Amino acid sequence: MTARRIDGKAAAAELRERVARSAAEFERRAGRPPGLATVLVGEDPASAVYVRMKGKATAEAGMAGFAHHLPDTVSQAELLELVEELNRDERVDGILVQLPLPAQVDSARVIAALDPAKDVDGFHPINVGRLAAGLDALVPCTPLGCLYLLKAELGSLAGLDSVVIGRSNIVGKPMAALLVAESATVTIAHSKSRDLPEIVRRADVVIAAVGRPEMVRGEWIKPGATVIDVGINRISSADGKVRLVGDVAFDEAVQVAGAITPVPGGVGPMTIAMLLRNTLVTAHRRAGLPEPEGF
Ligand code: NAD
Repeated sequence: MTARRIDGKAAAAELRERVARSAAEFERRAGRPPGLATVLVGEDPASAVYVRMKGKATAEAGMAGFAHHLPDTVSQAELLELVEELNRDERVDGILVQLPLPAQVDSARVIAALDPAKDVDGFHPINVGRLAAGLDALVPCTPLGCLYLLKAELGSLAGLDSVVIGRSNIVGKPMAALLVAESATVTIAHSKSRDLPEIVRRADVVIAAVGRPEMVRGEWIKPGATVIDVGINRISSADGKVRLVGDVAFDEAVQVAGAITPVPGGVGPMTIAMLLRNTLVTAHRRAGLPEPEGF
């Protein structure tokens, strides 16, 4: 028996379609579409690709996109000024500042300057704190996408042993907080954890967010476990071609797990879908409309 493939591409497409329908309904009621502003600083090719993909997805969902591209020489004051301007702009429901920012800019200060009500990445300390406190919060898009896939696969997560490998602010920590909120039993493993294989062996749910190609081996996985692979690693094959692999050795894990996300086509597409979802939600809140249902 091989594991079920969790099709993140299909789930993301379905979600994006529903977001688009709700965005059209929002526009009818509010007299304007939901708006997402992106801020890209410098010429990092990966960041440019991400921002372009987000802009395209925004347009496809019928939302207004406001793309800002600043040179990598931008000063902290100039960037803060742009954030303030976007905070005030009534057409803007979500603000996404693409990280990383250049060294002369203090990223934490820029994030703290965002209006928490427009913080669709969920990085503002207010939203981080609200999530930690179990209050309603804007939640980072990647872990929100992982949770969406997990709930679609498993229904209730209550009481399940779950292991999150990685403790970043973007993925690992918010993922763990979401799982706690779902009443799972949560272990957070990281670079200093002892005997990772043994920790993973206990888990009904494994979330790998490390950034090390195929680190999690099939023999670590408890038979029947659900495996969510967040990792996106570029490796060169023997034939010189570059391919994407996750943090989990897929070919091994698929023999043992009950269900598993592939890379690519698993968690990746969910991130952008959740960004649109968060923007839809902030738009409704800002316009004083009831929250869209089913998101
Ligand atoms: P990060 O580098 O900020 O964090 C990595 C974490 O892994 C750290 O907390 C570290 O303690 C832990 N770690 C490192 N070595 C380890 C080891 N040997 N054993 C156990 N833990 C170890 O990375 P991140 O931003 O959280 O991203 C993780 C991965 O997810 C990357 O491959 C990244 O590309 C990918 N990612 C994908 C998406 C998506 O949309 N699918 C979004 C964000 C990140």
